[in-house]
Amino acid sequence: MLYIEEMKNKILNGNLITQAQAFSLYNQPLKELCAAANEIRKHFCFNQFDICTIINAKSGGCTENCKFCAQSIHNDTKTNVYPLLSDEKIIEHAKRNHEQGILRYSIVTSGRCLSDNEITKICETVKQLRSQVDISVCISCGLLNSEQYKKLKDSGITRVHNNLETSRRNFPNICTSHTFNDKITAIKAAQSVGLQVCSGGIMGLGETPKDRIDMAFTLRNLGIESIPINMLNPIKGTPFEKNRRLTDEEMRRIVAVYRFILPTAFIRLAGGRCLLKDKGTACFLSGANAAISGDMLTTAGITVENDIEHLNALGYEVKLCNE
Ligand code: SF4
Repeated sequence: MLYIEEMKNKILNGNLITQAQAFSLYNQPLKELCAAANEIRKHFCFNQFDICTIINAKSGGCTENCKFCAQSIHNDTKTNVYPLLSDEKIIEHAKRNHEQGILRYSIVTSGRCLSDNEITKICETVKQLRSQVDISVCISCGLLNSEQYKKLKDSGITRVHNNLETSRRNFPNICTSHTFNDKITAIKAAQSVGLQVCSGGIMGLGETPKDRIDMAFTLRNLGIESIPINMLNPIKGTPFEKNRRLTDEEMRRIVAVYRFILPTAFIRLAGGRCLLKDKGTACFLSGANAAISGDMLTTAGITVENDIEHLNALGYEVKLCNE
């Protein structure tokens, strides 16, 4: 208890905690840890809540071997496979989401990276989308270089999503077709042209508490302010299909410690939220202040309408944050 108070006050006074302190916090009593994380969130982020939706704009057929992923050709899953969706489909989907109150929308494509032709096509889609819908557009499209990111930025993209997924130590256990350094290089390339970066990871990939804390510090060192936290939804046909699902309490603990490490960030519940008994409510009172709403890439999610109603009841104001 005393330790939690001491660390909380350190943060509220404008200081950052060390890795060793984060590790000590990880083992503190859950209820008090979460209450203090909620106070830190309120102090730095007020009642702002950032909500976004995504579209799976190109699905399956990915050459990479991420062991959690339904879209990898190395995994025997029944996922849909289709090439880049048309302008019409993407814009129509964005419009529908905007009408429901969504202010941030992400175009997600499977694969290691996009071809130059695909980038040109997406840039055209984004220009049209931005002229028709007042929505902020993000993209999640693998590992690009700064020139490619610049084209996307010029078309109207404001933010790039690229998850680290796990710690540097654990990364080779989940993927060997690209490296942790490839991820960092892509994140820095996006930042170098003035794009914001959204990056986090998946919990339940066989990582230790230390791995979780290490990833949070890598994100802090990269200056990431939007941090998706996914809970592995083990998918049949992937090497991780038998991984143990995390409990609600484990997710709350992770979220709370992330809030201590990253006091000003938007900590975003992402994939796997619908596996939580309360669909994320306790996490939203333990430091999380952002979420992906609607369906995930290959799994069903929670409707935008339900989310917004519920978040308002929790005292949050859903708005476009960090623009
Ligand atoms: S690179 Fe992306 S789409 Fe491809 S297997 Fe990995 S997570 Fe899935």
